[in-house]
Amino acid sequence: MPYPLRIDTIRKAIECSYSIWVHCNTERCWRHHRIDLGALADMLGPDHGCLAADLAPHFHCSECRKAGRPDKNISFTLHPEAPHWVN
Ligand SMILES: [Zn+2]
Repeated sequence: MPYPLRIDTIRKAIECSYSIWVHCNTERCWRHHRIDLGALADMLGPDHGCLAADLAPHFHCSECRKAGRPDKNISFTLHPEAPHWVN
């Protein structure tokens, strides 16, 4: 992997064992969900961007949508996988 390392595509996130979470930032909802990157790569293509601006058009909060609240008050976080010895 070339340096400086830039995790900006779904493929790079998968190859570097990162996980991406989507978070609802609406008060009293606060739902969060780990994105299935394999399924996302199948849907958008592995070279699709994985930055927030790249992903936001494809996500919404289903609970807020069901409740009639704004459903695009979301953000994303990128995490390296924790080593197995961390609980
Ligand atoms: Zn929500």
